[in-house]
Amino acid sequence: MKPDLRSFTAVELVSYLQEMGQPAYRGRQLFRQAQALAAPDFAAMSDLPRSLREQLAAQARLSQPQICARHLSAARDTAKLLLEFEDGERVEMALMLYAREQSRDRATCCVSSQSGCAMGCAFCATGMFRQFRNLSAGEIVAQVQAGDALARELGFSGVTNVVYMGMGEPLANPQQVLRSIELLNDAQGMRIGARRITVSTCGLVPQIRKMADWGLQVGLAVSLHSADAEKRRRLMPGAAHWKLDELLAAMLYYQERTGRRVTCEYALIAGVNDSLSDARKLVRFLTGSRILVNIIPANALPERGIHAPAAAQCAAFCRAVREAGIELAVRELRGADIEAACGQLRKRCGTDRKAKAETGEKTAAADTPEKARQREENKAECE
Ligand code: SF4
Repeated sequence: MKPDLRSFTAVELVSYLQEMGQPAYRGRQLFRQAQALAAPDFAAMSDLPRSLREQLAAQARLSQPQICARHLSAARDTAKLLLEFEDGERVEMALMLYAREQSRDRATCCVSSQSGCAMGCAFCATGMFRQFRNLSAGEIVAQVQAGDALARELGFSGVTNVVYMGMGEPLANPQQVLRSIELLNDAQGMRIGARRITVSTCGLVPQIRKMADWGLQVGLAVSLHSADAEKRRRLMPGAAHWKLDELLAAMLYYQERTGRRVTCEYALIAGVNDSLSDARKLVRFLTGSRILVNIIPANALPERGIHAPAAAQCAAFCRAVREAGIELAVRELRGADIEAACGQLRKRCGTDRKAKAETGEKTAAADTPEKARQREENKAECE
């Protein structure tokens, strides 16, 4: 496949074009267009000479996913895109929209870093995809650009924040994730500040330590979901390779190196990790750490036996953690009606048979007439 110039940094594009006999400023012109436009096209880059555009089109490409499906939640506060790359690989990307707060509105783009995931977390739809690949930096940036265009179309000022919480484990694809952050951060690109970017991991200890040494002010969110080692092993088999004290030491190292408080994500699942005994274990694990807790009432994933906690149970759990002096926030529930909430991303919208074949989901069993009717009711195309 031809090289994807959307994955190139400005410095790399300058030297790429210099090797083609072009002056340095042509590389910077190309970088601006490749990074700032949702649908960059060599032919439309009228500030470049036609002969150069033709040469570039013959020897390189600009990664540009097709939008296969678009959904907007009934509350119009969450959108989801199903994107297909040139090789047919598909991912989903979610966009959370927050109306004007003080001076500006906010749009957070939740990007995928892989088209599936090997970690196999019990509560996650993405983990059902057994065939997948890492996404390139250009493919990650292209998701943000698609989100930016959609946010503007919906009346917002564009993407302001990016979270690596979509499909895949970002730290299993660290080089491309780091490169994509540098591209998003670039003053000639989308100019998304590092402090507005968060990488979420299921807890790959060596990679957390390496990320601390990136020298960036990127936020880190670690999925814990249980401070009981055996329970966590069942919930997150891919992350259980490291002991809980090793994980905590890596999180503290991140805080020390970057000065940024780490967030500990805790998906509260009915009957699994929502008891007061679970809350006490979480408190013991975090006491003295300055780590913030983000409680995420689990989104139902019936095919994996995951159910949302009762409101009273959720409240009791949070009270027990807060009263022990641990800072805690409960994540606002949004996007569940279009399966765009945490743990619900997969590479299909509605009744896509290709994705079902990949996960082994049985089409007939999964889509009862009632379920199909509900899906249709919930589905709200953007236009
Ligand atoms: S929660 Fe994250 S790490 Fe776990 S299977 Fe899903 S995408 Fe992978």
